Amino acid sequence: MKECNVCGTFNLKDNKYCTHCGCYILEENICPFCGYKNPDSHVYCINCGKQITPITIDSFDVLFSEYNYAQMDNANVSSVEYNEILERMFRKLNYVSINGKTPKDKIIRIASVFTSVIPKSSGINHGTFKNTMIFFDDRLDDSFQIGTIIHELAHYLLFELTVNMLCKILNVNESSTLKAFVDVFLSSPQLIGINEFFAHTVENRYIPHDYLNFTSFNDLVLNSNYDIEDNLQYLLIIISYAKDIIGYLDIYIDEQLRELIKLQFREDKPNHNRQILFEVEELELDDVELDDIVKIRMFTLLMVDFFKRLYNNEEAREELEYIKNKFED
Ligand SMILES: [Zn+2]
Ligand SMILES: [Zn+2]
Ligand SMILES: [Zn+2]
Repeated sequence: MKECNVCGTFNLKDNKYCTHCGCYILEENICPFCGYKNPDSHVYCINCGKQITPITIDSFDVLFSEYNYAQMDNANVSSVEYNEILERMFRKLNYVSINGKTPKDKIIRIASVFTSVIPKSSGINHGTFKNTMIFFDDRLDDSFQIGTIIHELAHYLLFELTVNMLCKILNVNESSTLKAFVDVFLSSPQLIGINEFFAHTVENRYIPHDYLNFTSFNDLVLNSNYDIEDNLQYLLIIISYAKDIIGYLDIYIDEQLRELIKLQFREDKPNHNRQILFEVEELELDDVELDDIVKIRMFTLLMVDFFKRLYNNEEAREELEYIKNKFED
Protein backbone atom coordinates (compact mmCIF):
# COMPACT_ATOMS: atom_id res chain seq x y z
CA MET A 1 0.00 0.00 0.00
CA LYS A 2 1.10 3.54 -0.59
CA GLU A 3 -0.36 6.74 0.60
CA CYS A 4 -1.56 9.45 -1.77
CA ASN A 5 0.43 12.56 -0.89
CA VAL A 6 -2.48 14.81 -1.93
CA CYS A 7 -5.48 13.33 -0.10
CA GLY A 8 -3.90 10.67 2.11
CA THR A 9 -5.91 7.74 0.72
CA PHE A 10 -4.16 4.39 0.80
CA ASN A 11 -3.82 2.91 -2.67
CA LEU A 12 -2.68 -0.45 -3.98
CA LYS A 13 1.05 -0.70 -4.53
CA ASP A 14 0.77 -0.76 -8.33
CA ASN A 15 -1.68 2.14 -8.66
CA LYS A 16 -0.24 5.06 -10.57
CA TYR A 17 -3.20 7.32 -9.77
CA CYS A 18 -5.14 7.75 -6.55
CA THR A 19 -8.51 5.97 -6.57
CA HIS A 20 -10.00 8.79 -4.49
CA CYS A 21 -8.69 12.09 -5.92
CA GLY A 22 -7.15 10.92 -9.18
CA CYS A 23 -3.81 12.58 -8.52
CA TYR A 24 -0.55 10.99 -9.60
CA ILE A 25 0.91 9.05 -6.68
CA LEU A 26 4.52 9.76 -5.89
CA GLU A 27 6.75 6.84 -5.03
CA GLU A 28 8.62 7.16 -1.83
CA ASN A 29 12.13 7.49 -3.03
CA ILE A 30 14.02 7.77 0.21
CA CYS A 31 17.56 9.03 -0.07
CA PRO A 32 19.97 6.58 1.62
CA PHE A 33 22.37 9.44 2.37
CA CYS A 34 20.14 11.96 4.08
CA GLY A 35 16.75 10.28 4.45
CA TYR A 36 14.85 12.83 2.37
CA LYS A 37 11.73 11.55 0.58
CA ASN A 38 12.11 12.29 -3.12
CA PRO A 39 9.57 11.89 -5.95
CA ASP A 40 10.21 8.69 -7.93
CA SER A 41 11.29 10.52 -11.08
CA HIS A 42 14.30 12.04 -9.35
CA VAL A 43 17.69 10.51 -10.00
CA TYR A 44 19.40 12.96 -7.64
CA CYS A 45 18.25 13.81 -4.12
CA ILE A 46 16.49 17.17 -3.90
CA ASN A 47 17.95 17.72 -0.47
CA CYS A 48 21.58 16.62 -0.68
CA GLY A 49 22.18 16.26 -4.42
CA LYS A 50 23.57 12.70 -4.28
CA GLN A 51 22.51 10.05 -6.79
CA ILE A 52 19.68 7.99 -5.34
CA THR A 53 18.15 5.94 -8.16
CA PRO A 54 18.23 3.03 -8.10
CA ILE A 55 18.23 3.03 -4.33
CA THR A 56 21.01 0.60 -3.89
CA ILE A 57 23.91 0.80 -1.50
CA ASP A 58 26.81 0.10 -3.82
CA SER A 59 29.80 0.94 -1.65
CA PHE A 60 30.91 0.58 1.95
CA ASP A 61 31.31 4.36 2.21
CA VAL A 62 27.57 4.60 1.68
CA LEU A 63 26.75 1.59 3.87
CA PHE A 64 28.78 3.02 6.74
CA SER A 65 27.41 6.55 6.39
CA GLU A 66 26.12 8.44 9.41
CA TYR A 67 22.62 8.18 8.01
CA ASN A 68 22.76 4.39 7.84
CA TYR A 69 24.35 4.27 11.28
CA ALA A 70 21.23 6.02 12.56
CA GLN A 71 19.03 3.64 10.57
CA MET A 72 20.77 0.69 12.21
CA ASP A 73 20.45 2.32 15.60
CA ASN A 74 16.68 2.41 15.10
CA ALA A 75 16.60 -0.98 13.41
CA ASN A 76 13.17 -2.47 13.55
CA VAL A 77 11.70 -5.35 11.57
CA SER A 78 8.12 -6.13 12.49
CA SER A 79 6.69 -9.59 12.77
CA VAL A 80 4.54 -8.90 9.69
CA GLU A 81 7.58 -7.78 7.69
CA TYR A 82 9.60 -10.79 8.84
CA ASN A 83 6.87 -13.19 7.76
CA GLU A 84 6.45 -11.38 4.44
CA ILE A 85 10.16 -11.86 3.76
CA LEU A 86 9.88 -15.60 4.43
CA GLU A 87 6.74 -15.91 2.35
CA ARG A 88 8.44 -14.12 -0.58
CA MET A 89 11.57 -16.26 -0.29
CA PHE A 90 9.64 -19.51 -0.64
CA ARG A 91 6.99 -18.34 -3.11
CA LYS A 92 9.13 -19.26 -6.10
CA LEU A 93 8.98 -22.94 -5.11
CA ASN A 94 5.27 -22.91 -5.98
CA TYR A 95 6.09 -22.42 -9.64
CA VAL A 96 8.35 -25.40 -10.19
CA SER A 97 7.61 -29.09 -10.21
CA ILE A 98 9.88 -30.98 -7.88
CA ASN A 99 10.73 -33.87 -10.13
CA GLY A 100 13.65 -36.27 -10.13
CA LYS A 101 14.20 -40.01 -10.15
CA THR A 102 15.76 -40.25 -6.72
CA PRO A 103 15.21 -38.35 -3.47
CA LYS A 104 18.64 -36.80 -3.97
CA ASP A 105 17.55 -35.46 -7.37
CA LYS A 106 14.45 -33.95 -5.79
CA ILE A 107 16.45 -32.28 -3.03
CA ILE A 108 18.85 -30.85 -5.61
CA ARG A 109 15.84 -29.58 -7.56
CA ILE A 110 14.49 -27.78 -4.48
CA ALA A 111 17.87 -26.27 -3.56
CA SER A 112 18.46 -25.17 -7.18
CA VAL A 113 15.39 -22.96 -7.04
CA PHE A 114 17.31 -20.81 -4.56
CA THR A 115 20.92 -20.97 -5.71
CA SER A 116 23.51 -22.90 -7.71
CA VAL A 117 24.03 -26.46 -6.50
CA ILE A 118 27.36 -27.77 -7.73
CA PRO A 119 28.84 -31.27 -7.35
CA LYS A 120 32.52 -31.43 -6.44
CA SER A 121 34.62 -34.55 -6.52
CA SER A 122 37.46 -33.29 -4.41
CA GLY A 123 38.30 -32.02 -0.98
CA ILE A 124 37.55 -33.40 2.45
CA ASN A 125 34.43 -31.35 3.15
CA HIS A 126 31.17 -33.14 2.48
CA GLY A 127 29.82 -29.83 1.39
CA THR A 128 30.36 -26.11 1.63
CA PHE A 129 28.39 -22.94 1.20
CA LYS A 130 30.54 -20.36 -0.51
CA ASN A 131 29.69 -17.10 -2.31
CA THR A 132 26.01 -18.06 -2.00
CA MET A 133 26.61 -21.32 -3.88
CA ILE A 134 26.18 -24.85 -2.57
CA PHE A 135 28.92 -27.40 -3.24
CA PHE A 136 28.49 -31.06 -2.33
CA ASP A 137 30.73 -34.09 -2.63
CA ASP A 138 29.07 -36.44 -5.12
CA ARG A 139 31.40 -39.34 -4.29
CA LEU A 140 29.52 -40.09 -1.09
CA ASP A 141 26.39 -42.21 -0.62
CA ASP A 142 23.19 -40.53 -1.78
CA SER A 143 21.87 -40.42 1.76
CA PHE A 144 24.96 -38.56 2.89
CA GLN A 145 24.65 -36.14 0.00
CA ILE A 146 21.00 -35.45 0.83
CA GLY A 147 21.91 -34.45 4.38
CA THR A 148 24.76 -32.30 3.10
CA ILE A 149 22.70 -30.46 0.50
CA ILE A 150 19.92 -29.70 3.00
CA HIS A 151 22.54 -28.48 5.48
CA GLU A 152 24.14 -26.13 2.94
CA LEU A 153 20.72 -25.00 1.72
CA ALA A 154 19.92 -24.02 5.30
CA HIS A 155 23.07 -21.85 5.34
CA TYR A 156 21.87 -20.24 2.14
CA LEU A 157 18.38 -19.58 3.51
CA LEU A 158 19.71 -17.93 6.67
CA PHE A 159 21.92 -15.79 4.43
CA GLU A 160 19.02 -14.72 2.20
CA LEU A 161 16.77 -14.07 5.18
CA THR A 162 19.44 -11.89 6.82
CA VAL A 163 20.11 -9.93 3.61
CA ASN A 164 16.38 -9.28 3.30
CA MET A 165 16.11 -8.14 6.90
CA LEU A 166 19.02 -5.76 6.37
CA CYS A 167 17.35 -4.38 3.21
CA LYS A 168 14.22 -3.78 5.26
CA ILE A 169 16.13 -1.99 8.03
CA LEU A 170 17.98 0.26 5.58
CA ASN A 171 15.05 0.57 3.20
CA VAL A 172 17.09 -0.31 0.11
CA ASN A 173 17.41 -2.97 -2.59
CA GLU A 174 19.84 -5.83 -2.15
CA SER A 175 23.35 -5.40 -3.50
CA SER A 176 26.73 -7.07 -3.45
CA THR A 177 27.75 -4.58 -0.74
CA LEU A 178 24.98 -5.78 1.57
CA LYS A 179 25.62 -9.43 0.68
CA ALA A 180 29.30 -9.05 1.57
CA PHE A 181 28.38 -7.46 4.89
CA VAL A 182 25.97 -10.30 5.72
CA ASP A 183 28.47 -12.93 4.60
CA VAL A 184 31.12 -11.54 6.96
CA PHE A 185 28.53 -11.15 9.71
CA LEU A 186 27.31 -14.76 9.51
CA SER A 187 30.85 -16.14 9.60
CA SER A 188 32.03 -13.86 12.41
CA PRO A 189 33.02 -15.45 15.76
CA GLN A 190 29.72 -14.30 17.30
CA LEU A 191 27.63 -15.88 14.56
CA ILE A 192 29.49 -18.90 13.27
CA GLY A 193 28.26 -21.21 16.02
CA ILE A 194 24.69 -19.99 15.68
CA ASN A 195 24.90 -20.41 11.90
CA GLU A 196 26.20 -23.99 12.17
CA PHE A 197 23.69 -24.91 14.82
CA PHE A 198 20.92 -23.55 12.60
CA ALA A 199 22.05 -25.60 9.57
CA HIS A 200 22.29 -28.80 11.65
CA THR A 201 18.84 -28.22 13.15
CA VAL A 202 17.30 -27.89 9.70
CA GLU A 203 19.26 -30.85 8.31
CA ASN A 204 18.32 -33.08 11.24
CA ARG A 205 14.63 -32.54 10.56
CA TYR A 206 14.96 -34.53 7.32
CA ILE A 207 17.28 -37.38 8.21
CA PRO A 208 16.48 -40.46 10.33
CA HIS A 209 16.98 -40.22 14.06
CA ASP A 210 19.90 -42.65 14.06
CA TYR A 211 21.86 -40.33 11.82
CA LEU A 212 21.26 -37.01 13.53
CA ASN A 213 24.44 -35.07 13.63
CA PHE A 214 25.97 -31.85 14.89
CA THR A 215 29.44 -32.52 13.49
CA SER A 216 30.42 -29.05 12.29
CA PHE A 217 29.01 -27.47 15.42
CA ASN A 218 30.83 -29.96 17.64
CA ASP A 219 34.09 -29.39 15.78
CA LEU A 220 33.69 -25.71 16.48
CA VAL A 221 33.12 -26.29 20.17
CA LEU A 222 36.02 -28.72 20.44
CA ASN A 223 38.52 -26.80 18.33
CA SER A 224 37.88 -23.24 19.39
CA ASN A 225 36.82 -21.67 22.62
CA TYR A 226 33.21 -21.46 21.58
CA ASP A 227 31.22 -21.73 24.76
CA ILE A 228 27.78 -23.33 24.58
CA GLU A 229 26.78 -21.99 27.98
CA ASP A 230 27.60 -18.39 27.00
CA ASN A 231 25.74 -18.71 23.72
CA LEU A 232 22.76 -20.65 24.96
CA GLN A 233 20.22 -17.87 24.53
CA TYR A 234 21.30 -17.34 20.93
CA LEU A 235 21.17 -21.05 20.20
CA LEU A 236 17.58 -21.04 21.45
CA ILE A 237 16.77 -18.09 19.25
CA ILE A 238 18.25 -19.71 16.18
CA ILE A 239 16.22 -22.86 16.83
CA SER A 240 13.09 -20.77 16.50
CA TYR A 241 14.41 -19.37 13.18
CA ALA A 242 15.09 -22.94 12.09
CA LYS A 243 11.51 -23.87 12.98
CA ASP A 244 10.20 -21.10 10.72
CA ILE A 245 12.36 -22.27 7.82
CA ILE A 246 11.36 -25.90 8.44
CA GLY A 247 7.71 -24.84 8.41
CA TYR A 248 8.16 -23.72 4.80
CA LEU A 249 10.52 -26.50 3.71
CA ASP A 250 8.07 -29.13 4.99
CA ILE A 251 5.62 -28.07 2.28
CA TYR A 252 8.10 -29.10 -0.40
CA ILE A 253 10.14 -31.78 1.34
CA ASP A 254 6.79 -33.36 2.07
CA GLU A 255 5.78 -36.54 3.86
CA GLN A 256 6.31 -38.61 0.72
CA LEU A 257 9.78 -37.23 0.03
CA ARG A 258 10.74 -37.58 3.69
CA GLU A 259 9.75 -41.25 3.43
CA LEU A 260 11.92 -41.69 0.32
CA ILE A 261 14.85 -40.12 2.16
CA LYS A 262 14.35 -42.58 5.00
CA LEU A 263 14.41 -45.49 2.55
CA GLN A 264 17.59 -44.13 0.98
CA PHE A 265 19.29 -44.17 4.38
CA ARG A 266 18.07 -47.70 5.01
CA GLU A 267 19.49 -48.80 1.68
CA ASP A 268 22.86 -47.04 2.04
CA LYS A 269 23.39 -47.66 5.76
CA PRO A 270 26.03 -44.94 5.78
CA ASN A 271 28.51 -45.60 8.53
CA HIS A 272 28.66 -42.21 10.12
CA ASN A 273 27.81 -42.13 13.73
CA ARG A 274 25.20 -40.13 15.46
CA GLN A 275 27.14 -37.27 16.91
CA ILE A 276 25.52 -35.02 19.39
CA LEU A 277 26.97 -33.09 22.26
CA PHE A 278 25.32 -33.74 25.58
CA GLU A 279 24.34 -30.11 26.10
CA VAL A 280 22.95 -29.82 22.63
CA GLU A 281 20.83 -32.91 22.91
CA GLU A 282 18.98 -31.20 25.72
CA LEU A 283 17.84 -28.40 23.47
CA GLU A 284 14.72 -30.02 22.15
CA LEU A 285 13.21 -28.35 19.15
CA ASP A 286 9.65 -28.64 20.39
CA ASP A 287 10.40 -26.96 23.68
CA VAL A 288 11.40 -23.74 22.01
CA GLU A 289 8.53 -21.33 21.61
CA LEU A 290 9.74 -17.81 21.12
CA ASP A 291 7.76 -14.74 20.34
CA ASP A 292 8.51 -13.29 16.86
CA ILE A 293 9.25 -9.90 18.36
CA VAL A 294 11.83 -11.31 20.77
CA LYS A 295 13.63 -13.41 18.22
CA ILE A 296 13.69 -10.69 15.54
CA ARG A 297 14.91 -8.15 18.08
CA MET A 298 17.70 -10.38 19.42
CA PHE A 299 19.00 -11.30 15.97
CA THR A 300 18.73 -7.72 14.70
CA LEU A 301 20.71 -6.48 17.69
CA LEU A 302 23.52 -8.91 16.85
CA MET A 303 23.62 -7.43 13.34
CA VAL A 304 23.49 -3.84 14.61
CA ASP A 305 26.29 -4.61 17.06
CA PHE A 306 28.38 -6.05 14.24
CA PHE A 307 27.65 -3.03 12.02
CA LYS A 308 28.89 -0.69 14.73
CA ARG A 309 32.02 -2.72 15.25
CA LEU A 310 32.86 -2.45 11.55
CA TYR A 311 31.81 1.18 11.25
CA ASN A 312 35.22 2.76 11.53
CA ASN A 313 37.32 -0.30 11.00
CA GLU A 314 39.67 0.04 8.02
CA GLU A 315 40.96 -3.52 8.25
CA ALA A 316 37.44 -4.93 8.13
CA ARG A 317 36.72 -2.68 5.16
CA GLU A 318 39.45 -4.43 3.18
CA GLU A 319 37.99 -7.84 3.89
CA LEU A 320 34.53 -6.62 2.92
CA GLU A 321 35.82 -5.23 -0.40
CA TYR A 322 37.48 -8.56 -1.13
CA ILE A 323 34.26 -10.49 -0.49
CA LYS A 324 32.14 -7.98 -2.37
CA ASN A 325 34.27 -8.58 -5.49
CA LYS A 326 33.48 -12.28 -5.27
CA PHE A 327 29.76 -11.54 -5.33
CA GLU A 328 30.24 -9.45 -8.45
CA ASP A 329 32.14 -12.09 -10.46
ZN1 LIG B 1 -5.61 11.03 -3.47
ZN1 LIG C 1 19.69 13.16 0.12
ZN1 LIG D 1 27.58 -25.88 8.02
